[in-house]
Amino acid sequence: MPVPFRSELDSLRTYVPPKSWRMAAEGKSDDYAKLTSNELAFGPLPEAEAALAEVLPRANRYPDSHVSRLRQVIAKANPGAETGNVLVGNGSSEVLLNALQLLPAGGEVLYPWPSFSLYPMLCAVLGMTARPVPLTETNGVPAGIPADDILSAVTDRTRAVILCNPNNPSGTYLTLDEVRAFAGALPERVLLILDEAYVEFVDDPAYGDSHALALERDNVVVARTFSKAHGLAGLRCGYGIASARISDYAERVRFPVSVNLAAQVAATASVLAEEKVRERARFVVRERRRLQQSFGEAGLDYILSQGNFVMVRFGADEFEKSGILVREGGALGYPGWSRVTVGNAEENDRVVEAVGASTLSAGRGV
Ligand SMILES: *Cc1c(COP(=O)(O)O)cnc(C)c1O
Repeated sequence: MPVPFRSELDSLRTYVPPKSWRMAAEGKSDDYAKLTSNELAFGPLPEAEAALAEVLPRANRYPDSHVSRLRQVIAKANPGAETGNVLVGNGSSEVLLNALQLLPAGGEVLYPWPSFSLYPMLCAVLGMTARPVPLTETNGVPAGIPADDILSAVTDRTRAVILCNPNNPSGTYLTLDEVRAFAGALPERVLLILDEAYVEFVDDPAYGDSHALALERDNVVVARTFSKAHGLAGLRCGYGIASARISDYAERVRFPVSVNLAAQVAATASVLAEEKVRERARFVVRERRRLQQSFGEAGLDYILSQGNFVMVRFGADEFEKSGILVREGGALGYPGWSRVTVGNAEENDRVVEAVGASTLSAGRGV
């Protein structure tokens, strides 16, 4: 008789990484443009690299378990926040985990779907019931964030809503007014986790200082990451802004030294060089427009995106023939589509060329 395991884990599968990760591990991806994982095409800022070089000789020592310096600079970068409002984690993945760990086990978690594959996984691990709510369709394509449908789906057992905004993989988003209205309509006993992994790429000028929502309300956590706009995905660092009560409890459940020394100093340097991060994000936004325009001109359907990626109705195998690796849409709930990460200028040129070769009729932005 084998050791009995928790039955809710039976449905879990080992994370299947995008093909590019496997190819890189085998040394086979060097000639490809890697546009699979929404990483930044550029390395860490020089400031972050310098900070890393400086601390490496001290890697024999444990880092600051409270992550105080990084918390301070994050608080300063988010007006109105104090150090005690800042959560940190080994990637924003850990921030999401810690936030959900605060809730009584056995309840339900609502989130739009398709969205980030980590959400159902966290629910299974924590013994919570995942309740995905379908994105609303535009021209038959799942695109819109179903705010009203989520509100209608709230029950007495609902413990949390995870709102990925902008949403990965659709790239669609709720405006800040819509997020505010949503937060206002949600019962105060339900935790709203706003996953803003891509917030730096939102070009709507009215979407700013969204962290204020988390300071105003006791039931809101805004989660952000250094993995995307900051170009530090390999170091694993994320943060959140929330009430002092949430932040205090999240710190109780976090592994004591989950944010490593390299991640702490590189993230701190990156926040301090924020204007350069913003400049890089502006580049991504310009290039996103160029890709979307080329998709339209090539007669391909695509979803207007606020992230550093665009969903387009064009097969991943077609892209691969042109030396481009993208995330297969089939794995994300969009069979026949691809999620294309905005790359550097040359990589994006390659994408434009690849789709240009297949011009049919006029495509439409969803
Ligand atoms: C990439 C991504 C993250 C970031 O995860 P990290 O653990 O910080 O690397 C979080 N949420 C979504 C929706 C993402 O796409």
